Amino acid sequence: MPDEETKNDRPKQPNVAEDVGALLTGLKTTLAETFKPVVTTMYPEDKTPRSERYGGRHYLRRYDDGLERCIGCELCAAACPVGCILVIAAENSDEERVSPGERYAKTYEINMLRCIFCGYCEEACPVQAIVLGPEYELSDVSREKFIYTKERLLEPLPPAVQARLDGKKAT
Ligand code: SF4
Ligand code: SF4
Repeated sequence: MPDEETKNDRPKQPNVAEDVGALLTGLKTTLAETFKPVVTTMYPEDKTPRSERYGGRHYLRRYDDGLERCIGCELCAAACPVGCILVIAAENSDEERVSPGERYAKTYEINMLRCIFCGYCEEACPVQAIVLGPEYELSDVSREKFIYTKERLLEPLPPAVQARLDGKKAT
């Protein structure tokens, strides 16, 4: 028994052929990876495409004649699970018509710091006035800048969002 224990404790003898074989296997793996197409996206210069259903930064839409779609009904604010939409409606008049309905949103704000991008506001809107766009780079330097005002939300709709909405209409 003691003889067997001594035999097991002996250090393994170096085997040059085994070591060279392992080295070659490693080199083969490295070489194979070297010639494979690069899959790394060089963000932020390159960006991966968003899925069509991706919901990022919000937009308020206008009709072709320039009138705002929003009629100040506050359904989006009611549907929002985190209460980050503020709508204060006002009456349209013949002298000052902002939207086709009786009312329009005098104030429309979204607190992007609270938004969870669930898209419920878009689903709740009866006139497709509020929509989510593909932008996800929303970092900024102060809390105030995360309160998206109506002016900011009324910025032109990105073509991708328009295409998605046109697709919805077609189905
Ligand atoms: S996406 Fe969701 S959380 Fe964000 S404003 Fe719309 S309803 Fe609220
Ligand atoms: S965005 Fe739509 S749901 Fe929200 S207040 Fe305007 S019309 Fe109503």
